[in-house]
Amino acid sequence: MFKGLLIENGDAGYEAKLAELDDSQLPEGDVTVRVAYSTLNYKDALAITGKSPVVRRFPMVPGVDLVGTVETSRHAKFAVGDLVLLNGWGVGEVHWGGLAERARLRGDWLIPIPKGFTPRQTMAIGTAGYTAMLALIALERNGVTPDKGEVLVTGAGGGVGGIAIALLHQRGYTVVASTGRLAETDYLKSLGADEVVDRAQFSSPGKPLGRERWAGAIDSVGSHTLANVCATVRYGGTVAACGLAQGMDFPATVAPFILRGVTLAGIDSVYRPVEDRLEAWRRLESDLDTRTLDLITREIGLSEAIAAASTMLAGAVRGRLVVAIDPN
Ligand code: NAP
Repeated sequence: MFKGLLIENGDAGYEAKLAELDDSQLPEGDVTVRVAYSTLNYKDALAITGKSPVVRRFPMVPGVDLVGTVETSRHAKFAVGDLVLLNGWGVGEVHWGGLAERARLRGDWLIPIPKGFTPRQTMAIGTAGYTAMLALIALERNGVTPDKGEVLVTGAGGGVGGIAIALLHQRGYTVVASTGRLAETDYLKSLGADEVVDRAQFSSPGKPLGRERWAGAIDSVGSHTLANVCATVRYGGTVAACGLAQGMDFPATVAPFILRGVTLAGIDSVYRPVEDRLEAWRRLESDLDTRTLDLITREIGLSEAIAAASTMLAGAVRGRLVVAIDPN
């Protein structure tokens, strides 16, 4: 038997609870992992609360990220005792995920944990941090270098935003952080923001084009925010779009793209090929000052994850939440 969060959607309605689970309930897979840590991402919060149809099979163990030790393996690349890391691949959505003491997975989804990080640090980074790195790589590939000008990070108080600020700062970019929580200005500056602005200026319907300001942007907010950011990117700049915290809509015009040559780079972390994941984690190892993770991260237990999910959707979690499951 093992403990895990279980989401059911039956006659009693949509419910997430802490449950005792049996190994025989684990899904198909060639690797079984004893989970040391997981984390709470925005998507996990949507899954746990049922606010969006993230979960597509019931019952479901949520958790898109996990790190742990291989207990059994029929996969050529992984042996008993190996430390492994998983981000995405539909885990926590269509296949049981990381918010449980045990997980059974496809070995093809796993990567070894990067040598530069402890298991806990990989979850402090998690899908949020790995996505922030994919976004930074997209800006770089599109020629947004530190000398080009300011880079805007929206949703700055959240997980993707916090790690994006730290990564950009450490690469030498001038970073402007947009937040609804100006009381967190000192925190955002401690991560590396050069300036902190009120997100209200981006939140409502705006003009097709505005004053050119940003050389690039990493947006985890979507909706009017993404539209207004695109409208104020400088000629030839790039916006990496990775989230929908304000909304999934994109009420924009083509003006920034056809009149200013702006690029909108879409970032998906879930089904990203393994080579891209390895590249992103290598870059996190070389670029991220791990002291930043202490500023960004708070640790909670499995039993606290359900309440934390609602807090996260209310926009009241600062940075990242690591879920300690079986750390020893
Ligand atoms: P998070 O920690 O909850 O951060 C989201 C932040 O967005 C909040 O902290 C808040 O920052 C801001 N925000 C919340 N509601 C808002 C609103 N109504 N209007 C404007 N800003 C709002 O979540 P996360 O884990 O960083 O994820 C951020 C987004 O990226 C989510 O939509 C998530 O699904 C997405 N994501 C996508 C991928 C991918 O593969 N594409 C991977 C990871 C995450 P402030 O308080 O500072 O304003």
